[in-house]
Amino acid sequence: MATPQHLQLLAPLSGVLMPLDQVPDPVFSSRVIGDGLCIDPTTKTLCAPLAGVISNVQTSGHAVSITDDHGVQVLMHIGLDTVNLAGKGFTRLVEEGQRVEAGQALIEFDVDYIALNARSLLTLMLVVSGEPFTWLVPEAGLVESGQPLLSLNSAGQVRDELLADQGEALFSKPVTLANPNGLHARPAAVFAQAAKGFSASIHLHRQQDSANAKSLVAIMALQTAHGDRVQVSAVGPDAQVAIKTLSELLVAGCGESVTVLADVQPTETCAQTVLRGVCASAGSAFGLVVQIAEQTLHVSEFGKGAQVEREQLAQALSESQRDLQQLRDNANSDAQGEIFKAHQELLEDPGLLDQAQSLISEGKSAGFAWRATTEATAVQFKSLGSPLLAERAADLADVGQRVLKRILGVQDQVMDVPEGAILIAEQLTPSQTAGLDTRKVLGFATVGGGATSHVAILARAAGLPAVCGLPVQVLALVNGTQVLLDADKGELHLDPDLAAIEQLQADRQQQQKRHQHELAHAALAACTRDGHHIEVTANVASLNETEQAISLGGEGVGLLRSEFLYLDRNHAPSHDEQASTYSAIARALGPTRNLVVRTLDVGGDKPLAYVPMESETNPFLGMRGIRLCLERPQLLRDQFKAILGSAGLARLHIMLPMVTQLSELRLARQLLEEEAQALGLTELPKLGIMIEVPAAALMADLFAPEVDFFSIGTNDLTQYTLAMDRDHPRLASQADSFHPSVLRLIATTVKAAHAHGKWVGVCGALASETLATPLLLGLGVDELSVSVPLIPAVKAAVREANLTDCQAIARQVLGLESAEQVREALRLYHAAVVDTSLVLEN
Ligand code: PEP
Ligand code: MG
Repeated sequence: MATPQHLQLLAPLSGVLMPLDQVPDPVFSSRVIGDGLCIDPTTKTLCAPLAGVISNVQTSGHAVSITDDHGVQVLMHIGLDTVNLAGKGFTRLVEEGQRVEAGQALIEFDVDYIALNARSLLTLMLVVSGEPFTWLVPEAGLVESGQPLLSLNSAGQVRDELLADQGEALFSKPVTLANPNGLHARPAAVFAQAAKGFSASIHLHRQQDSANAKSLVAIMALQTAHGDRVQVSAVGPDAQVAIKTLSELLVAGCGESVTVLADVQPTETCAQTVLRGVCASAGSAFGLVVQIAEQTLHVSEFGKGAQVEREQLAQALSESQRDLQQLRDNANSDAQGEIFKAHQELLEDPGLLDQAQSLISEGKSAGFAWRATTEATAVQFKSLGSPLLAERAADLADVGQRVLKRILGVQDQVMDVPEGAILIAEQLTPSQTAGLDTRKVLGFATVGGGATSHVAILARAAGLPAVCGLPVQVLALVNGTQVLLDADKGELHLDPDLAAIEQLQADRQQQQKRHQHELAHAALAACTRDGHHIEVTANVASLNETEQAISLGGEGVGLLRSEFLYLDRNHAPSHDEQASTYSAIARALGPTRNLVVRTLDVGGDKPLAYVPMESETNPFLGMRGIRLCLERPQLLRDQFKAILGSAGLARLHIMLPMVTQLSELRLARQLLEEEAQALGLTELPKLGIMIEVPAAALMADLFAPEVDFFSIGTNDLTQYTLAMDRDHPRLASQADSFHPSVLRLIATTVKAAHAHGKWVGVCGALASETLATPLLLGLGVDELSVSVPLIPAVKAAVREANLTDCQAIARQVLGLESAEQVREALRLYHAAVVDTSLVLEN
């Protein structure tokens, strides 16, 4: 890329110019970050000195970088040591990934607050990409915001060389960052400067994100924080020494004084034999590494005229639509089909199309415009911190690449995977997995993704083990290396010994034998050895799943997640349509089985297109579940009316989600009674609530007289009790429903319900874990509503248990300290029971 002849940088604010050498901060005055200028501001709005894309804006709002279409990067930093203000006094007006015009307002700041609370207001504008410049004004004196100050010359840019062919990448051990504000501008500059001293290609990694270690802006864009674990990788002749020097620098704080954290690792390159991530799909496999990498596509920036480029984009979009339809038609699971359907919708998104069209109007090629649009939108999605939106970013990247290939006429490489493959990728996209011969694939291991990612969904649908969130060195494994993927533990063993492989194979055989036994006995009642019956029902979201549940021995439906029935609509289903869906499910169950229909649980992580909502800062603590429905009572009335149409077809129950207040229950009951009366029904269906907010569990004694039943949603109950987002990738191992606090709330709920003669179910994921079965029985739970494929296993676990023993183990674990201790106690109990039971031999 070349810098255009006369790129001018405008003054980002008004004020007095000051020579960089006189800035009382060596990191700026030494020009280690880059050359540029300093202004003592007299205005309070920082504006863009050039047009481009916001390549980084610090969450604290005190620094922002712009990268133009030619790779020129300019950093603006307001004040000295302002990172310590943690955002106070700054208002960000732009988002990362957003395109801005020269002169556009970027950040507003409170001059008085900063002057009082930070070292200085001096504001820097630095050309961090290294282009030399000439001054257009005298180097001191007053300047006006928007006035041209510098003229950049081409040549001499600092660019990272791609040294991918120079050998295998080496990785440092993980280093925990001790810098109070992570690698913000100052330590990032010191680190980048040190990295530039090596010829190797060097990257800094945090989980699946990586940055060119020689680029200050790229490091800042990682937005690292105190306590983040990072790694350095290097390829090239001096890689070993680069890694040693740079990881020592990270440990030492990159020029900032830090207290070294207790778990900071030694800095030599590592030869780890076990890589750890999170389990995305259970199971294990021994196989051969097959690396899957996305092709790098080159696009030229400028087009052959707007008309030609528009036609090319339109054609590529329609061809991609057709390809996606074909993939949907041939999908090997519902989950896969749904993902491609979502991709088709992205291709019709007017926002994306408008943005691409406007770039084409500016003279860009179709490929450039499409790529810039999808990439910028993906960055925006990722920066919002929601796992759901991060997943949409991955979808966008996938569909973006698909259309780009069509524009460029690049054929998809057909992946010929050898037998016994363990696929390794940074991010395994739905498109990549669609073309695979899954009979040859034994498992997936990826750097990106999490337990709720598409890889996880696809792996579970295909019954393959998968681990996500692995460190990046997994990408450096050589094809054909033998590895053992132990997804249950979230591990990839790089050097598995024979004993481990044999153990794995023996475990697998045992599991298969057990599974066959459970299936063969699925129709038997779930009665403990001492004759206590517990109902095992299913969590479903469709008629199809209901039918499957019955065939696997499900004794009813304990949770119909009604919001999933019409997830893909942008208009509400009609009354007839809703009523016919519910009655089809009720009819499949018949008059002797329970059907528990949960009313719409929209909000939180589940947006519903036909119920538009304002965006919320904390959606999980916002207008979710019953709160939303009571705010829009007609929605709830319509749903009640449709559900009541199934009265008599099954043992009908209605359940309200997210109930926190008694008034919510009373109001909903009133609406239900009114709707039933209008239909001339004399008998109401049973009405119950989910216990998923600690408030409801703690006041279960007051709720119990007014409900017919409780069902405990342990997924949300855990999230709200432990104050841990249920989808947070870094809290996944801690947000554990086995935590004694959650178990105590279950015990409280059961006690209150039984005192009033009401039954209690558990429908959260804890009910589907066979390790928890004896515990839940012991706590007195009456019904377990579980994920459909696990019905036979949970029923078998009940039949192996003895209620008296279960009560003893439940009493014991309620007094333990942590989820790990509870799990360990249950494992010991399980081992003892399985040893003495002859279940498999019978
Ligand atoms: C729960 O929260 O445990 C539950 C079953 O509801 P959902 O997972 O649908 O929020
Ligand atoms: Mg819930």
